[in-house]
Amino acid sequence: MVKGNNGARAMLRAHFLQNIGRIMDSDELREVAGGISEWARRVRELRTEEGYLILTHNDLSELKPGQYLLKTAKPEPAFARDISKETRAFVLDRNGFTCQMCGATAGEPHPYDPSRKTRLHIGHIIDKSMGGIDEAANLRAICSICNEGASNITQDRPSFVKLKTQVLRSTNETQLELLAVLVRKFPKQAEELIS
Ligand SMILES: [Zn+2]
Repeated sequence: MVKGNNGARAMLRAHFLQNIGRIMDSDELREVAGGISEWARRVRELRTEEGYLILTHNDLSELKPGQYLLKTAKPEPAFARDISKETRAFVLDRNGFTCQMCGATAGEPHPYDPSRKTRLHIGHIIDKSMGGIDEAANLRAICSICNEGASNITQDRPSFVKLKTQVLRSTNETQLELLAVLVRKFPKQAEELIS
């Protein structure tokens, strides 16, 4: 009758999957886990080890501390579970803490769903099932929303010509904001261009 940790995790997983989209609080989840004190840790494992998109108040402003919400039944692809902390940090830094699909920045409200803070994961450029490796050259920062396929943008990077047209059509205010973003990203190059 000892349920053990895996038992509690399985119960929580089943409960989350039966309640997709419903906000649940800690009392409910503790009970589902059989009252064990480690229930929150098991929930965390569902996120970090199994890739379930269980959101908390850190992700979604409408949630209060102690509330949890599973957004979708589909776990994120086994993102980078085998990848070391160092590689992870290296890739995030190299990618400027910016999603390589939509350009959202870690910690800022997501451009396609401002109620959610952008959370970055490490994803494979060539999927592991296609022979992609776990090394920095095959890894990139990708946000939860792009991972869910929700931002609906293609993986192609916009061409210079297209992008330039878009930028020059926007207001001067927007162009100046963009200029500030780029100068912050490329301070050295900006200096060189001016001098
Ligand atoms: Zn993204």
